[in-house]
Amino acid sequence: MDCLFCKIAAGEIPSTKVYEDDTVLAFNDINPEAPVHILLIPKQHIASMAEINEENSAVVAHIFEVAAKIAAEKGFADGFRVVSNCGDSAGQTVKHLHFHLMAGRDFGWPAG
Ligand code: AMP
Ligand code: ZN
Repeated sequence: MDCLFCKIAAGEIPSTKVYEDDTVLAFNDINPEAPVHILLIPKQHIASMAEINEENSAVVAHIFEVAAKIAAEKGFADGFRVVSNCGDSAGQTVKHLHFHLMAGRDFGWPAG
């Protein structure tokens, strides 16, 4: 499958790793929108949040544990944002499930 984040998960394309275990990889976003901008992905291919189901949701729960751990380790436990864009109209450009973990500045709502 020609999937950028599958290739990053497999180590075929380099990334700046922040965290890795058997099922999850976290790496710095190449085009950061905040001082801290990390992408958390399942190593298995899940196309988007729309594809989360009973069979694969355990890894998503694990991703959220990892996100909280990373935020705490970096000193942002009381102020960070996690976002997943799902589908073209929401701005999803890479069709492999990922969560943006952003911190280090104030954020507007619902955008910015
Ligand atoms: P989205 O637009 O929500 O699908 O997010 C995709 C994200 O992947 C964007 O924030 C990009 O900057 C980021 N990105 C694209 N290619 C790479 C790469 N090779 N390494 C790290 N981040 C990337
Ligand atoms: Zn993939």
